Amino acid sequence: MGKHAVIAIFLPKRYSGSMKIAIVGLPNVGKSTLFNALTRSQVLAANYPFATIEPNVGIVPVPDARLAKLAALYTDPGSGRAPKIVPATVTFVDVAGLVRGASEGQGLGNQFLAHIRECDAVCQVVRAFDDDNVTHVDDRVNPLADIQTINTELILADLQAVDRRLAKVRKDAAQRRLVAELEKARAALDAGELLGSRRDLDTEMLRELQLFTLKPFVFAFNVSEAGLSDAPRRAELAALVSPAPSVVVCAKVEASLSELPPDEASELLRELGQEESGLDALARAGQQALRLQSFLTAGPKEVRAWTIPIGATAPQAAGAIHTDFERGFIRAEVVGYGDLLAAGSLAAARAGGKVRSEGRDYVMRPDDVVEFRFNV
Ligand code: GDP
Repeated sequence: MGKHAVIAIFLPKRYSGSMKIAIVGLPNVGKSTLFNALTRSQVLAANYPFATIEPNVGIVPVPDARLAKLAALYTDPGSGRAPKIVPATVTFVDVAGLVRGASEGQGLGNQFLAHIRECDAVCQVVRAFDDDNVTHVDDRVNPLADIQTINTELILADLQAVDRRLAKVRKDAAQRRLVAELEKARAALDAGELLGSRRDLDTEMLRELQLFTLKPFVFAFNVSEAGLSDAPRRAELAALVSPAPSVVVCAKVEASLSELPPDEASELLRELGQEESGLDALARAGQQALRLQSFLTAGPKEVRAWTIPIGATAPQAAGAIHTDFERGFIRAEVVGYGDLLAAGSLAAARAGGKVRSEGRDYVMRPDDVVEFRFNV
């Protein structure tokens, strides 16, 4: 994307709950097919624009192989009772097809844009499969041109939001700094730039505008089945949007996978030469785009992955579990996932000196298995 490169600079101060990602894309690129696979729910997937009128929400687990291993560690050998596994989740919101002119109210226009505004990140589904039976709104399959169409609509919508705010605050002497920031943003948008790629903006100050092009983007290229194992093609697509994270999926394959029992789904993936499903990769890429990471808690009742911003401290991580934990934070007992697994139990890890006691300033690492000590 060259100068349109998207860099995720938006980092929520505090992250709670499931990250919310808007699925957008031109009509007929495979959004509904992909979303159906996501939720195994039946959203109308049809070969015409605006098939999906109402936004639909699907909450999916972030795949994490560590959880099953930890659960095995904490399974009671006598009773065979295993802890409950609670993965981190991503919430996908399927928003209806974006068309050229959406920022001016074409298609579903403003209603559509309002749904994206509420999300933490934007996943653009981009058509990269050939199929003469499936019409393309612009009569040609061209991933880069499609991305530019969508970006242009988002830029135009941001421009309107910035102008509206400017009109309100321009004459207010107390808002001089905001006005300057808005003017800067306006100039960038006017030049066709996504605000996320600008490093000179005070994103904190602009946050309340919920601008689209300040949100992290992740791209899902919908390829044909054969395209899945086409390494040069995959690299070419990824390069179109780099450094933004992207995944290559085949929506039709994802639809089949979602209908199969787990062992048969693994078999199909193996036959296709894939290590994981496109949806698993997408959930992970979403986490990456939002600059989030997981940490783990484990015990005989429950093993669980929690989501926090990269760079969060131990008390902030405690706050992801419960605000009282953050307020009353004393210290965190931390063991690396690998160390815990190698030791075979928390007691053995402790005896081996692998359990650390960390204080308020400790910055969480993604492989931390944690127990918090706190006052209530
Ligand atoms: P949306 O408008 O973006 O939600 O697109 P849909 O998911 O409704 O898909 C539009 C049409 O494209 C449907 O007929 C799908 O069956 C078809 N389609 C979606 N994904 C693929 C794919 O990976 N390969 C092929 N050949 N067709 C697909």
